[in-house]
Amino acid sequence: MQLFYIAGVAVPVLLLIAALAAAMRRVPRADAVVPGMPGYDQEEAKRVADNLSEAIRFQTVSFSDITQRDFTQWVNLRGFLRSRYPKVHETLASEYTPGFSSLFRWVSPEPSGDPILLCGHLDVVPAEGGWRHPPFEGRIEGGYVWGRGALDCKNVVVCLFEALESLITKGYTPSRDIYLALGHDEELGGGEGAKMFARYFAQQGLRFSMVLDEGGFISDAVFPVGKPVADVCVAEKGMVNLRLSVSAPGGHSSRPPKRSAPDLLCEAICRIGFQPRPAQFSDLIRDNLKEIAPWLEPDLRRYLASPRLYDRKLLKRLADDERTSPLVRSTAVPTVLQSGVAPNVLPATAEAILNIRLLPGDSAERTLRWIEALTRDLGIRVDVLFESPPTGVANYKGAAFRDFAAAVSDVYPGIPAVPGLFCGGTDSRHYEPFSEAVFRFSPFILTADEHATVHAENERVAVASLGAAVQFYRRVIERFAPRFETEEAE
Ligand SMILES: [Zn+2]
Repeated sequence: MQLFYIAGVAVPVLLLIAALAAAMRRVPRADAVVPGMPGYDQEEAKRVADNLSEAIRFQTVSFSDITQRDFTQWVNLRGFLRSRYPKVHETLASEYTPGFSSLFRWVSPEPSGDPILLCGHLDVVPAEGGWRHPPFEGRIEGGYVWGRGALDCKNVVVCLFEALESLITKGYTPSRDIYLALGHDEELGGGEGAKMFARYFAQQGLRFSMVLDEGGFISDAVFPVGKPVADVCVAEKGMVNLRLSVSAPGGHSSRPPKRSAPDLLCEAICRIGFQPRPAQFSDLIRDNLKEIAPWLEPDLRRYLASPRLYDRKLLKRLADDERTSPLVRSTAVPTVLQSGVAPNVLPATAEAILNIRLLPGDSAERTLRWIEALTRDLGIRVDVLFESPPTGVANYKGAAFRDFAAAVSDVYPGIPAVPGLFCGGTDSRHYEPFSEAVFRFSPFILTADEHATVHAENERVAVASLGAAVQFYRRVIERFAPRFETEEAE
């Protein structure tokens, strides 16, 4: 009777399991999209995923309005890291803590050269829109950790801590000092965190043999190649925010003038959008393309091989492709528009904020002249609200880049590490004076869809890529600050 009963239940249960298994096969699994993934410690990947999930729950949101920021979240996140990574906090000295940022130092008993600097940031951007899972829940589902900060960049912070904790547990001592800089306001420009660290480095007379911050991913989303590429960014675009404003007579909307304030502003925005800054090659982008030449589409490869004949065609192709366009030109896009108070009232003013990203070599000054020339006859007033110049280009032909690329191929065999341009901003722009090897790289394998979730809805990171990232950070430490061997050691 009991057996019959069990069998009676078991049949529908088995059917259900089979149906679920079939449904799960249709969902692309995160680990199925990680080509060439080396074997990794599954236990470790799971532990990192759990820790990242918890870290996401602290709502360290960098609202530009300071009254909206809840700094207890930063305090609690730091407390969580302390409790989860006790050996790091026992072994590394707390050097300097401006605001809610932290600078740690792992002191080598006998440094063999300049220290290295590893970086991440604790804050995130606000989470708006419709998310599949609540953005601060840290849900682990379908092979992913979901939530704000999963890619930018609590993943970096947790994986760095995991790598350090595991090395300390194995008795590792570095042969040069290792600094760990965690900013609390990167998403607002790092003025109270990274900038203060930079001031401290200057006071201490520090130089770093290598700086590693968040940056490009391992993805096929950035370059026109059909395989993932490790985008090790060696330069960062600059940023300018401009306010465009215009006034025109207001009044009753039933008697509109020939051109209202919104008309004039919209025309200005359209001119800027349809007449972008000219595209141009830099040595960096040319060298980048050479590195990935074997995987480029055949006609791009042909263009690249004969620059005299085809440079213009190649540049046009890059400028026309949304993935590569930001790599070859300064971009300008309206991000805030304001005008009007009621449906039947003509607005007397209209204004827009224009967010501009400058190519290395371009300047805010030149951009301002360009915008003014395009909009002068419309009576548009242009004010600079914020400007931060592009960085220089780190040395990507020296030993540090070669060692870095070797660490990439140790962990991600077959994936080329190419020098790239970072189109966003990072804390490391403040550290440029202290090293000629500032690399912006987040060692996580992503699809183009996942890549698009940074600062957007449904931000998520594949659990499998977390395991590999921890391996990568360990490898970087082992290559740049090899284990210190004492005389007595065998
Ligand atoms: Zn970031």
